[in-house]
Amino acid sequence: MARISIKVVAVHEDSDSICEHPTAPTGEPRDPSQCTGRRGYRINCTHCGLTGDTHGIRSNADSACQTHRSEHAAVPATT
Ligand SMILES: [Zn+2]
Ligand SMILES: [Zn+2]
Repeated sequence: MARISIKVVAVHEDSDSICEHPTAPTGEPRDPSQCTGRRGYRINCTHCGLTGDTHGIRSNADSACQTHRSEHAAVPATT
């Protein structure tokens, strides 16, 4: 049975690609040639992929992450 990992990730303007680029304290990308900048945060689930809405505030994404985790916990695991 696969263990599901769910975490909050930053996403780019398109909301569909994860941003793992370094950013300055202002939130601006350190290297604009590689990074278009961040739009907000989404949930990245090893079972569902990027899922849910894009949240502008990290704490909102954190609570959505917990909700998503509990949704998985409610479904009986199949082997
Ligand atoms: Zn980026
Ligand atoms: Zn999921």
